[in-house]
Amino acid sequence: MLNNFLNILFPETCPVCQNPATDHKTAPICSDCWQSVSPYEGPICQKCGKPLVSDVSTTCGECLEDEPAFSYARSFGLYEGVLKKAISLLKFYGIKRLSKPLSDIILRIDMPRVDAVIPVPLHEKRLRQREFNQSALLAKYLAESLGIAVLLNCLIKIRDTAPQVGLSSKDRRKNIKKAFEIRRTEMIEGKNIILIDDVVTTGATVRECSNVLKKAGVENIYVITLAHGMMD
Ligand SMILES: [Zn+2]
Ligand SMILES: [Zn+2]
Repeated sequence: MLNNFLNILFPETCPVCQNPATDHKTAPICSDCWQSVSPYEGPICQKCGKPLVSDVSTTCGECLEDEPAFSYARSFGLYEGVLKKAISLLKFYGIKRLSKPLSDIILRIDMPRVDAVIPVPLHEKRLRQREFNQSALLAKYLAESLGIAVLLNCLIKIRDTAPQVGLSSKDRRKNIKKAFEIRRTEMIEGKNIILIDDVVTTGATVRECSNVLKKAGVENIYVITLAHGMMD
């Protein structure tokens, strides 16, 4: 309570630069730091959006070997700096108001016209723990801005999988296999959709979601995420 009281008297301190954050929309991140969030403009795999070390090839080895079910995947920036801070404040500290300005950042990605937006779902057990799905919040605001529907109950996570962090690319794929299911197929059959997640690393999760969506009859899937993370 004392904390809340102090926050009214004194604006929050920006966790990045330590200056006061006076814009409540992005607080505790100050507007200077927020404006410094910039897109990744280096070479990427044209299919999965993964940053490439050089622009000699346009498709990464993984996509050549195993073509994903989505048409393409794109991220706004790299999972670092202010963007990483903002995503973790939303996700792990429950600062839900950041989902709106973060969804505005997603709008800066070149996106095709689609029929609906679908978030990567959380298993109901994790949803109860975290109380909200950050990807569903991003999807909701994005759909609102685009004037299209957000479908929250079509793609369901039926298996509570172990966290992907620390697993190899191959193990991540194994871990997430058969974790998703489709409900209400008629809502997505023959449609073009955007699949939203906050961060993509190896792409195992969005690949698996796309497999399931494609099998259910979705025409085109475009994966859009805020940030591309690197394997550690
Ligand atoms: Zn700052
Ligand atoms: Zn690729």
